[in-house]
Amino acid sequence: MWLGLDDTDHLEGGCTTLEFHKLLESLPCSYSEPRLVRLWPFAAQRTRGNAALAVEIDCDEEIIDFLDDYWQRVILPLRGAVSSSNHDDRDQHPADPGMVLFAEQPDSEFYWRAVRQEVADLPPAVKTWGGHGCIGASAACAWPANICTWESIAWRVKERKVDEIALAEVDSWPETFLCRDPRSKRGLIAPRGPCPVMFGIRATSQQAAANAAEVLIVAKDTAPVLACRTFATNQASGDHLESSFTAKVNAVATLKGGHTTIETELDNLVSFSEGGEMNILAQWLQCGDEIEYLGLQDRDGVIHLEGLKLLSATSKQRPTCDCGKRMKSMGKGQGVRCPNCKNIQNRQWIVTERIPPSSGWTQPPFDCRRHLAREIV
Ligand SMILES: [Zn+2]
Repeated sequence: MWLGLDDTDHLEGGCTTLEFHKLLESLPCSYSEPRLVRLWPFAAQRTRGNAALAVEIDCDEEIIDFLDDYWQRVILPLRGAVSSSNHDDRDQHPADPGMVLFAEQPDSEFYWRAVRQEVADLPPAVKTWGGHGCIGASAACAWPANICTWESIAWRVKERKVDEIALAEVDSWPETFLCRDPRSKRGLIAPRGPCPVMFGIRATSQQAAANAAEVLIVAKDTAPVLACRTFATNQASGDHLESSFTAKVNAVATLKGGHTTIETELDNLVSFSEGGEMNILAQWLQCGDEIEYLGLQDRDGVIHLEGLKLLSATSKQRPTCDCGKRMKSMGKGQGVRCPNCKNIQNRQWIVTERIPPSSGWTQPPFDCRRHLAREIV
């Protein structure tokens, strides 16, 4: 059977990953590798990182009695607590936990919808407990894990402190990713705020994630941890984006604060000031440039850029006269004339290619990317 849990984040030491870990510890049956699944970031009601959890469990419907009791005793009391976060720009909502039990893994179609858009329905379940969290919990069960990475999460006893030298070591391993910002060397593995997570270390193999967590936990300057567990996850899968688009730029505007809006013949795009070289390229664009882009459409239909690439950029200028003056148009289809010596020329425009500030795909810096974002190559 498949068991999913979501939306138990709350203020005093609550976080769905820890609640799920405790649930796994209490299960009266064996279970397979637990999974942490990130979902559509613009969902109206969402938890801090918009992550849901699931696991395949080795049992039959007798487990329902245990789950009924566990729900009443442990999870239900978390309902209504308001989560708070200081690293998130969106309003938080009261926790509305959900737990689901399926006889078989739900169809992956449900996952694909929940990672790319708002979902309101549920796949047919053996039993559901609670409210809104059932949607994420079901999507976590339905995740087909076509592209998979791993994250080892350790929860703190009290203080949140990770040994810097040990972090630098695991950061140098080829299988780990997003451990530290490559430029500032600032650690990216620890959340801020009241969340009970000490750190989450990501890797492209299960073993590397588990080993890296072990290295961090035993290091001299790491504070004591409550427990640690490795999850299979859809982080860095790019699953939230179906495909890139190609379009001609109609207009570009830089807003107060450095954000850039790009109007194309297809979509309206926005690149945020934190976007680094991607935002620099966005600001450099001109009407007529051809671009390829990747991003998620928000609730207003604007695409938040996660990748931007220039395909062609040209600029048109009037030709220059032998005397050095710029020629001027004499009217539609009538050639150009020098305002100085009155020379006339038939060639209306000189088209030159503009050299962009960066070539190939540009993306926001590592610490500003979504959990779901994949390295574009
Ligand atoms: Zn001239």
